[in-house]
Amino acid sequence: MEKTCIDALPLTMNSSEKQETVCIFGTGDFGRSLGLKMLQCGYSVVFGSRNPQKTTLLPNGAEALSYSEAAKKSDIIIIAIHREHYDFLTELTEVLNGKILVDISNNLKINQYPESNAEYLAQLVPGAHVVKAFNTISAWALQSGALDASRQAILKKENPFSTSSAWLSDSYVALGILGFFLFVLLGITSLPSVSNAVNWREFRFVQSKLGYLTLILCTAHTLVYGGKRFLSPSNLRWYLPAAYVLGLIIPCTVLVIKFVLIMPCVDNTLARIRQGWERNSKR
Ligand code: NAP
Repeated sequence: MEKTCIDALPLTMNSSEKQETVCIFGTGDFGRSLGLKMLQCGYSVVFGSRNPQKTTLLPNGAEALSYSEAAKKSDIIIIAIHREHYDFLTELTEVLNGKILVDISNNLKINQYPESNAEYLAQLVPGAHVVKAFNTISAWALQSGALDASRQAILKKENPFSTSSAWLSDSYVALGILGFFLFVLLGITSLPSVSNAVNWREFRFVQSKLGYLTLILCTAHTLVYGGKRFLSPSNLRWYLPAAYVLGLIIPCTVLVIKFVLIMPCVDNTLARIRQGWERNSKR
């Protein structure tokens, strides 16, 4: 069958120096991806396969042999095979004696087997030195390298499980739900069929008191959304505030004015003016 080859691009300047040969058992997704990376780093790679003649998509420069022939070529053998198919390794105990076997396997479930995969491998090939590696890297990450999303976590990254972050996110959701609920209630009471059914005091309570409460909740919801990064200079793209900051200007202005108006000194004065205080004082 025709072999499809993937070009191996050098990763380092020293990659022209040929390093030792690494054997990889299995020509599946992970074996091929790891083999490509090893070739790029300057290692010679030999694959062990059930059907070395029929293997496809092998990286350019890699050799495919039978399992026993491939094992003879290297002291390090990476077992890129699912644990369920390890049984055949017992037939290779002689050739694998004294070699380093790298177990990269993962199981589908936690506690799927009584012993770990590496322990199982060590039991099958007692004369080999079994180590565990690479199992936390995906074949996809190996192929796409630094372009992939699965990179090392940045040290200074905010801990998503920190108490303050949890409080902020929970408050954000709770305020949003409450605010939206009251907003819907306001909309319903504004319908002529509903507003005609309530008396003047009820209508005023809903439209005025609950209206302000809705405004407070929705404004707080957006303020919490901003959280710690609210006025952080790094969030000022092109020296312009974010849309949610601009959206807060009018509600905050309304709330500040309302707060001033309900202060007793202002409110009492206004009430007296409304009751004709100026007119009376002139008399
Ligand atoms: P895969 O694509 O299914 O390849 C497994 C390879 O095992 C086959 O290509 C086959 O190669 C070989 N094999 C030997 N005996 C076999 C048998 N009886 N039946 C079927 N295949 C047999 O699997 P993979 O995704 O490369 O995963 C290989 C190992 O890497 C697994 O243990 C997995 O847990 C681990 N792993 C995978 C990833 C990943 O992202 N894929 C990540 C971490 C760890 P030949 O046909 O050449 O013999």
